[in-house]
Amino acid sequence: MQRIDTLIHPRWIIPVEPPDMVLEDHALAVHEGRILSLLPGQEALQRYQSDHLHQLPRHVLIPGLINSHTHAAMSLFRGLADDLPLMEWLQGHIWPAERQFVNAEFVYDGTRLAAAEMLRGGTTCFNDMYFFPDQAARASQEAGIRAVVGLILIDFPTVWARDADEYIARGLEVHKQYRQSSLVYAAFAPHAPYTVTDGPLARIRELADLLDIPIHMHVQETAEEIRQHQAIYKERPLARLARLGLLSHRLLAVHLTQVQETDLATLAESRAHVVHCPESNLKLASGFCPVERLLQTGVNVALGTDGAASNDDLDMLAEMRVGALLAKGVAGSASALPASQALRMATLHGARALGLEHLIGSLLPGKAADLAAIDLGCIETQPVYHPLPQLVYSAARHQVTDVWVAGRQVLKGRELTTLDEAELLSKAQEWQARIGMRAKRR
Ligand SMILES: [Zn+2]
Repeated sequence: MQRIDTLIHPRWIIPVEPPDMVLEDHALAVHEGRILSLLPGQEALQRYQSDHLHQLPRHVLIPGLINSHTHAAMSLFRGLADDLPLMEWLQGHIWPAERQFVNAEFVYDGTRLAAAEMLRGGTTCFNDMYFFPDQAARASQEAGIRAVVGLILIDFPTVWARDADEYIARGLEVHKQYRQSSLVYAAFAPHAPYTVTDGPLARIRELADLLDIPIHMHVQETAEEIRQHQAIYKERPLARLARLGLLSHRLLAVHLTQVQETDLATLAESRAHVVHCPESNLKLASGFCPVERLLQTGVNVALGTDGAASNDDLDMLAEMRVGALLAKGVAGSASALPASQALRMATLHGARALGLEHLIGSLLPGKAADLAAIDLGCIETQPVYHPLPQLVYSAARHQVTDVWVAGRQVLKGRELTTLDEAELLSKAQEWQARIGMRAKRR
């Protein structure tokens, strides 16, 4: 018998690759952080002697979900300002609160809270954009969650940096610090076309090529943004990004609710990725990303929650469901964005967009053991005729019981193993007292 670290034997396994496959009564073997094999349950029990054996007869095992766009630390602003359009929400509430409260401690505490929420919801990797990416990286590493931290750039001074040169210099320090990490990666994160000028964008493009890392940016989120951008630059944001050489396989263009026919071809040709954030777009009434059309044109579309201040949660199971339902409404077709495709967007497409497809996003042998087990044996998901649509259309995150990142179990019977829940709650209360005081004074 071969000795291995972990053997997981659930009722069903959805490997995501090949598409639409659902394996019943199979087991997944994990050794040294990687997936060793997927094989029939009985055969696995005969072949392997495992240090940790998980018999999960009610569960479905899937690749850990990938949240391709969030601002993790903003969890501390959850529910601060609701029912407002993007610019009013941003300029009247979020930016003033950020000026007053955001510092290294805020980002560290906020990212830990977000990491706990994401792990408890089956998310094992997130793509972040916020100030103090050094703190987001530190919090993620400690929590044992995979993260791509955004080296942010925005054309106004903040407590993180005074000007474009300092944003870039501080970002490069963070990149250098985590270059060898197998859990934390870096991407450039220029905030949006309307908040970053040409010079810094051109510099970021050069550096991204040099360091071979992605560029993560909000693009064409609202109609108003396009109107303002056209008034200043005399062209649409996508056209400007193309002119500056930013439209490439490195770019994760987040939101894209405003898409013209010409944009579709431009995106497909450039191999740029789109990150769809349906709940945030709905809450801020930003518009509808034409997901089905993008997918049909051959664009890789991933899925993200955006920050908890505009969602208001970091729940990728819910994001899949809303994404699938919204796509049907927008396309006027019930067969648009079927469940299996929604799951691919929340896993493999995210991995591809982040340049991590070789490592995560599906359960192929050799990939990292980033996994989530979801109990479909509850009242809410019974009976089960088809586990994959059931996962997308019925399951909720309280049914996520066990989660592994790189083979390490970070959620065990709904208990976090790397984070102290009581401590996180008390920190959240402390921040609530500080930030809430200001909200009352307004
Ligand atoms: Zn965002």
